[in-house]
Amino acid sequence: MKLAEVHFQPWHTLLSFYICENCSRVDADRTRIVVGTPCKYCGAPSPAARLHFGLSSLVLVNSIQDFYFLRRASPPADADGIVAHIHTNETDTRTVIPLLFCTLYEGLTTQLCQNIMRAKALDKPLQERLLSDHRYAKEKREKLFPALTGEKWNDALAELTNAAKLNFTEHFDFFLTVNRKRNKFIHEGTHWHFTDQELERIPEELLTTFSLFTQLHNRYVPKVA
Ligand SMILES: [Zn+2]
Repeated sequence: MKLAEVHFQPWHTLLSFYICENCSRVDADRTRIVVGTPCKYCGAPSPAARLHFGLSSLVLVNSIQDFYFLRRASPPADADGIVAHIHTNETDTRTVIPLLFCTLYEGLTTQLCQNIMRAKALDKPLQERLLSDHRYAKEKREKLFPALTGEKWNDALAELTNAAKLNFTEHFDFFLTVNRKRNKFIHEGTHWHFTDQELERIPEELLTTFSLFTQLHNRYVPKVA
């Protein structure tokens, strides 16, 4: 299934991941919706379907969908984006889609760190201090994550890639490319650096994004049975 072909159904419904309230494992098993369904990891009956990823991530996904189809309906008039957007007030989807994607990634990174800290039973004030000391997602990946898990971010991705059908390392490289341009946009306003190819690829990377954060969660958060 290609998300880019799904117009009217909210994309977040196709990217639903559920958490077992007993063992904290996360997967895309929709049978968890039915009360009483045993968790395939720990056997505990499901008390209710509980979506794992926060509401803001689902809203961001649906917003990416909105702007993706706005872009289809109203393609940018010029190649570099300068003329049309100086002289009109039309939304330039070339800026919005990558900004939403990077915001999604940052939110998921924060949620992952929060869940790892909670699983390690760090007290609440310490959790808050660590998050405020590592305000940027890059600091969370490069400093907080290794401090909490004993593993480097890139090494964890390489290991998860070996175990999965998805190439998380390549996916993360794509995110970094978009994120570097996002930062350039924020500081210099150079939005036309986002290419059509990158904008078209973002929807196709969303399932891998959620899969990656699911795998990272399952690697560090669930209680040992
Ligand atoms: Zn379970």
